[in-house]
Amino acid sequence: MAGRLEPPQGAESAPFWEATRGGTLLIQWCSACNRGIFYPRSFCPHCLAMDGVLEWRTASGRATVYAASVEHKPAAGGSTFSDGQPYVVALVDLEEGVRMMTNVVGCTPEDVHPGQAVTVTWEPLSDGRQLPLFTPS
Ligand SMILES: [Zn+2]
Repeated sequence: MAGRLEPPQGAESAPFWEATRGGTLLIQWCSACNRGIFYPRSFCPHCLAMDGVLEWRTASGRATVYAASVEHKPAAGGSTFSDGQPYVVALVDLEEGVRMMTNVVGCTPEDVHPGQAVTVTWEPLSDGRQLPLFTPS
């Protein structure tokens, strides 16, 4: 879909984005406090541990909708990836315990609700990376 703003790739998030090329969803994991981290960063937001304790784990791709809202009028001149159609902006909780902001696709927007089981799906970006979106399981 043309027009979507493509996410920047910083040093901390490079492994995440490289993995999306093969359709693998990675999450950062803190081995000090054994918790997942999203978005990727250089320290653990839970226990403030830094380099040496952060690793990458492959996520199952299974998640549950925490909250969802339907965007009926995409901002003019902004993101036009939905071609003007309503789309769902959602917070989903991955099985691994991290919360991501994403879009839920492949269903009627009004049908997306908290507690709904969703699975990762991929939207190709122009440079070969893929954007993780979610679709009802
Ligand atoms: Zn930690």
